[in-house]
Amino acid sequence: MHKAKGEVVSVNESLVGVRTTDGAIMNGEVAYIIVEDGKRLKSEVIDVKEGNRAYLQVFEDTNWMKVGDPVEFTGLPLAVKLGPGILGSVTDGLQNPLYELGKIEWFLERGLEVDPLDNTQKWHFTPMVEEGATVTGSTVLGSVPEKLFEHKIFVPFSIQGNHTITHIVKEGDYTVDEPIATIQDSTGKSMELTMAFEWPVKRPMPFTERSVPIKPMPTGIRILDALFPIAYGGTACNPGPFGAGKTVLQHSLARHSQADVVIIAACGERAGEAVEVFKDFPELIDPRTGKSLMDRTYIVGNTSSMPVAAREASVYMATTVGEYYRKQGLNVLILADSTSRWAQALRETSGRKEEIPGPEAFPMYISTLISAFYDRAGVEILGDGNTGSLSIIGTVSPAGGNFDEPVTQATLLSTGAFWGLSRALSDARKYPAIDRIDSNSKYPSQLEQEEVTYLLELLRDGKTIASNIILMGEKGITDESYIRYQKAELLDAVFLQQNSFHEVDGVTHPERLRLMFNMIQEIIDTPVDIKGKEEIRSHFNFIRQAFLDWNYMKPDEEGFDKQKTKLLNLLKQMGHVAENV
Ligand code: ADP
Ligand code: MG
Repeated sequence: MHKAKGEVVSVNESLVGVRTTDGAIMNGEVAYIIVEDGKRLKSEVIDVKEGNRAYLQVFEDTNWMKVGDPVEFTGLPLAVKLGPGILGSVTDGLQNPLYELGKIEWFLERGLEVDPLDNTQKWHFTPMVEEGATVTGSTVLGSVPEKLFEHKIFVPFSIQGNHTITHIVKEGDYTVDEPIATIQDSTGKSMELTMAFEWPVKRPMPFTERSVPIKPMPTGIRILDALFPIAYGGTACNPGPFGAGKTVLQHSLARHSQADVVIIAACGERAGEAVEVFKDFPELIDPRTGKSLMDRTYIVGNTSSMPVAAREASVYMATTVGEYYRKQGLNVLILADSTSRWAQALRETSGRKEEIPGPEAFPMYISTLISAFYDRAGVEILGDGNTGSLSIIGTVSPAGGNFDEPVTQATLLSTGAFWGLSRALSDARKYPAIDRIDSNSKYPSQLEQEEVTYLLELLRDGKTIASNIILMGEKGITDESYIRYQKAELLDAVFLQQNSFHEVDGVTHPERLRLMFNMIQEIIDTPVDIKGKEEIRSHFNFIRQAFLDWNYMKPDEEGFDKQKTKLLNLLKQMGHVAENV
């Protein structure tokens, strides 16, 4: 293939104007700019103009770049190398490893490209097809064990039409770059395959069939699992002002969600936040396996020293790796924190290109890009009848916590669940500070629909009574209303609030969620015979404290059942109890 050449005509931070001097180029192809010291800086064509002009966004520092520097085009789009070895790794948006053997290299040398997958590690390959078999793109050739999973080795997805296997290796140990099979097309042309292949990050992988996300994915976070659930293959938008708990929530989801694989796209809000993720995560223990959490995690992110263009690459890298593990038949969860950083990168680039800006100077096409990103989530029915899913939860950090801005609004329209973080709740340290009234989800809960409605009604009543108390004082409302208000407050305190940092309270599995719900229902349904605000308040305080103590106990702990009995006895003191807990 003839590769085009060109030269730099303008440099505006990470946006570089070029003139092609030889050959034609296409949007999205990768190009290298060769700077004075001979280093090759990676970039992507983002706009092809008339008159042999084009814009490149450069993924590295453009200092020292100057007009006249030669450009070499590759003819190939920005791609990710897919194969065994991705899990457990930490890379930047161009798949350069950032974390190796316990050591983190912060400042990758300029122009340095490292092999994305370790090509010295041997994987134990077991073939599943024989010579003479007919195969095509995504046929499974065999598998290798990767951490917790059997990793299927596919015929590259880009291969079209029937091919014949003319050679396949025996069971044994191979690296990702060693040939393991040879296939031949109908014209007799041969091609060698390895255990890895590339896929362009901006192109969604093809799938034969999707199904609607309806199976709840337990997250261990009670307010989500009960009231605003996410389903396998679903999407959620988590906007919130600075410091309201977006990142804590994401980390909790990474540890406790019942997903097989977690991909963290860390576009840090604060300087050094992504670095903390890179350092902290490898030390975390997976509560399910007792082994390192990294065994089922891939982290892609940017250090604050990286240029804006790299943020965009991280989001696409995460999504493509997610689609690949979905094809493995696994449930994958992408956590993107914060997508506003990505949007800001787009805004900067668009501004430099002097495009006509949309609202708040974001480019007009921002909502199209955001919706295309969330559209890559979903449940896929695979060739063998099994399913895989890709769920995406993205945080948004609107300036001033104002949800009426373009990124929050576009995300809201593209996702199935909305978890709005409230400044009032986080100021009151009512964590997770997810708005109890203004959040929503279209996915089914682990609880019955009427049970969800029942809880939401109590919360709404509680809010109305609370504002009446502010207006009229406690004296101005009836004992009956006051009891209803206390019940809503109790529901919030013992069920919706949850201490992410506590070993037991920090995660609630479905069985316990049910147990807690039944107890809460008992409390709500028990008529209260107590008179007087003071007495009512004091009684609910006892119940609240007993419930909170219970929340901190493990089910197999000695006092667990005793505490439950204590709670039921407290209920008996205020009225009749049906006792079906
Ligand atoms: P954001 O990412 O929205 O800027 P963070 O997630 O960094 O906010 O949260 C800020 C602080 O709020 C945390 O450092 C922590 O002290 C507190 N916090 C947030 N969520 C919780 C929680 N679920 N439990 C306890 N503390 C929390
Ligand atoms: Mg944060």
